[in-house]
Amino acid sequence: MAELVCFSENCRARFPITEVIYNCPHCGGLLETMYEAPEQSALMLKRVWRERRASNMPLDQSGVWRYREFIPFLNSYNCVVTLREGNTPLLEARQAAQYGGLDQLVFKHQGYNPTGSFKDNGMTCGTAQALRLGMSRVACVSTGNTSASMAAYASAAGLQPIIFIPHGNISYGKLAQALEYGARTLQVEANFDQILALVRQLAEKLGIYLLNSINPFRIEGQKTIMTEMLDQRDWRVPDWVVLPGGNLGNTSAFGKALREMKELGLIDRLPRLAVIQAEGAAPFYELAHQPAKARRKAVLKAVEHPETLATAIKIGDPVSWPKALFEVSNSEGVVERVSEQEIADAKAVIGRCGIGCEPASAATLAGLRKLTAAGTIRADEDVVAVLTGHVLKDPDFIYKYHTGSLQTPDGALIRSTFGNQPVVVPYDSDEIAKVLES
Ligand SMILES: *Cc1c(COP(=O)(O)O)cnc(C)c1O
Repeated sequence: MAELVCFSENCRARFPITEVIYNCPHCGGLLETMYEAPEQSALMLKRVWRERRASNMPLDQSGVWRYREFIPFLNSYNCVVTLREGNTPLLEARQAAQYGGLDQLVFKHQGYNPTGSFKDNGMTCGTAQALRLGMSRVACVSTGNTSASMAAYASAAGLQPIIFIPHGNISYGKLAQALEYGARTLQVEANFDQILALVRQLAEKLGIYLLNSINPFRIEGQKTIMTEMLDQRDWRVPDWVVLPGGNLGNTSAFGKALREMKELGLIDRLPRLAVIQAEGAAPFYELAHQPAKARRKAVLKAVEHPETLATAIKIGDPVSWPKALFEVSNSEGVVERVSEQEIADAKAVIGRCGIGCEPASAATLAGLRKLTAAGTIRADEDVVAVLTGHVLKDPDFIYKYHTGSLQTPDGALIRSTFGNQPVVVPYDSDEIAKVLES
């Protein structure tokens, strides 16, 4: 049986899994899904999940729904729409390992998803829940990967996607995807928080299901990123899992997944989580670095004007911080922050490995470099870093970096340490040969 449970320690109120709520109606706390343990043993589950990789059934081909016993919130799979999300590779990267101060480094590249980010892992679940509840419209407030992903999944499911965009805050690459996938896109003259409040009222009135970051079913889908990673490693647990932190939904999802996999006997220990934020949008870093005594009662202090070129983690008031704080402490994890220059250089190094990613994803390698330098992570430890988005999400950033014209949000020039300028040559084979030999 599946239920929604309030995450707040003092409340823990329970609700039917089909209740349309986004926060606890009693205390306003975050909600999470809770299940009874599956009937199958850990050994059985591992066998079934492995066998499904050879199946031609859409449900089995999904890197999310293949692990459906681990996210059993539905009572029927008729409402599942899959674009074959997940199924993302583990990629070894020698140059990046060296740059990050490690003997070895493996990237779990979520940019290989259908719309190019890990949001797809969650969105297939959020969309299934919307269909199960009989909704005909879904909405989110976002200009980023969430809207690109929601638009695709909603349209594939025959739902109408509605995207609300804060005024003057458009990211064209990702917005282009949302338009192409057929989302109704509304630009509102207000900031993110104001629009969210408005949309919540509208949602109830118009029967719109909200697929914003706190939606607990999206978190369930994102859990399978960790399940798939461990399945691909034949259940060898790494020492560290490194990921960027924005709204902290993914941190919450990874922590919950690892905890639950340990409870089910799928793994025998927890990897430590290392969450990396951008310096200009690092409220979670500040929270985690309070003295131990103060931290237990601490409340996150929002950053009013978050600034970073890594727009996917440009979040001043991350909604999922209570869950993320619990998961980081529970895994004996750490939180680090990195500069714009560090993100840009790390991203170029990942590119040189033939891998590539969007700026937010590169915070992982930049953070690793700092954490190994500080001795927090040893060179010989087993590390998996999660690249969250595709390299083509933000081509403008790339071109500017390589041509030496990339600027931080406050106007400082970013050095193109690993720059790769295009060269203009005359139409002359001797001249071109000379350039190539030099
Ligand atoms: C959404 C997103 C993040 C941030 O994840 P949170 O769950 O909000 O912490 C990081 N990178 C990319 C590419 C994203 O799309």
